[in-house]
Amino acid sequence: MHGRARRVATCSCYNFLFTLKTIPAQGEECLARLPQRVPVSATKPAARPVPGRRIGIHTSVAGGVSKAAERAYHRGCNTLQIFSTSPRQWKPSSIDAAEARLFLKLREKYDLRPLAIHDNYLINLASADPVIREKSIEAFRGELERAVLLEAEYLIAHPGSAGGGDRREALVRFIVGMEHAARGLSLGRLRILIENTAGGGGALGCDHQFEEVRAILRLADRIPLGCCLDTAHLYQCGMDVSQAAGLDAVVERFERAVGLDCLHVIHTNDSKTALGSRADRHQHIGEGRIGIEGFRRILNHAKLRDKAFILETPIDKEGDDLRNLNTVRGLVAPEGGRSGAAATERRAVPSPAAHAPRRTVSRNRNGREIVQPAGNRA
Ligand SMILES: [Zn+2]
Ligand SMILES: [Zn+2]
Repeated sequence: MHGRARRVATCSCYNFLFTLKTIPAQGEECLARLPQRVPVSATKPAARPVPGRRIGIHTSVAGGVSKAAERAYHRGCNTLQIFSTSPRQWKPSSIDAAEARLFLKLREKYDLRPLAIHDNYLINLASADPVIREKSIEAFRGELERAVLLEAEYLIAHPGSAGGGDRREALVRFIVGMEHAARGLSLGRLRILIENTAGGGGALGCDHQFEEVRAILRLADRIPLGCCLDTAHLYQCGMDVSQAAGLDAVVERFERAVGLDCLHVIHTNDSKTALGSRADRHQHIGEGRIGIEGFRRILNHAKLRDKAFILETPIDKEGDDLRNLNTVRGLVAPEGGRSGAAATERRAVPSPAAHAPRRTVSRNRNGREIVQPAGNRA
């Protein structure tokens, strides 16, 4: 498959014809630090979900995926993100079928949806290096297979890195790499969510007009796609979501460029690093540059509140995950009320339709959803 010239599509965002000659750039590693070791509590849940909202956290699968469901439930989550294999190793781990069935049962029992799986950090489908690229395609195929096995709604993927090379060529390599990895697989209801990045090391997906994410969603029309926005990454790449005007401007630009229907998950992380630093360092909610009031606005924004909010905050000491979740739940306003009221007193409202279980999505439908006028594809 390498060395074969292939015309992919025209992209109105860049207004030029992408032509792929080879598929191959360099490894990029996400710097986000995610929790790996969290004990499972045998006691009753330490917190309860906020009715009508989907709030969760990246959860350890130590001891098996079913343990992740227990951990999430005990922390009052009704959505969660996991790794389905070690995020920093090429060699994949396998998931026991009985364990997968138990995980599904527990998700059902605890109403944990959507399930998001974050892909391995070593994967760089945009790489110009043929070895990295080959490994990335194989690893991404494994991510897809495990996501289907676990009946995940979403597989979250970074668009990879162009290194110092041409970004447009890297974008095309990313798209074609995804297509190669998914070839022949039945993805069921799985949707791949492209995550915005902080932009360090030539990472794709960090421009302020969301042109690169938009280009991916337009061009990769054989695969069901959507978006995940990471609040820390937005801030680190120079979009000031800590301020009301900055947040409104970002939401408006995203809505115009990509469409809010395509946005399914918000990675809810404060930023340890400065505005525009391009350095991907997550911080506890309210203790970073975005701050408590910034998150109050993000969590209660009328155009965002039906999304799944999933934290990837650090665990510096035991209990930090629950503390961050409680901070977020405490900031969420009840329907039509002031933010910050006690979550347990809120009236139950229907769950967001965006995360309804058993949603089947066809590939064709994906393209139509994402591309508003039909005339923009080659
Ligand atoms: Zn990520
Ligand atoms: Zn993230």
